[in-house]
Amino acid sequence: MTDAPTNIRAFSGDQILELTWDESRVDRLPYRYLRGECPCATCRNEWTGERILDPSTIRSDLKLEGMEPIGNYALRLVWNDGHSSGLFSWENFRKLADQQADPSGTT
Ligand SMILES: [Zn+2]
Repeated sequence: MTDAPTNIRAFSGDQILELTWDESRVDRLPYRYLRGECPCATCRNEWTGERILDPSTIRSDLKLEGMEPIGNYALRLVWNDGHSSGLFSWENFRKLADQQADPSGTT
């Protein structure tokens, strides 16, 4: 299981969420990317993994209104578009960062 990040910072000006991990790895994930990859059942088909949300409908002035830790394994992101049901596990963040670094690996 992935350990929790040692530090999480939200840069609202740059719309980037920065996660710092134990092994001094730092991942920077743009808000709109995270919002588009929201794993909740409204945004993504639970069974097929197919995205339901149309990324073009994500507002450009997207902001994080809150972050709520879920146990020690995930973070709930609260967006200013009223959406707050996305729980991102640490594994999930790492996977999204890897996928962002290597977009050819996306499905
Ligand atoms: Zn969602």
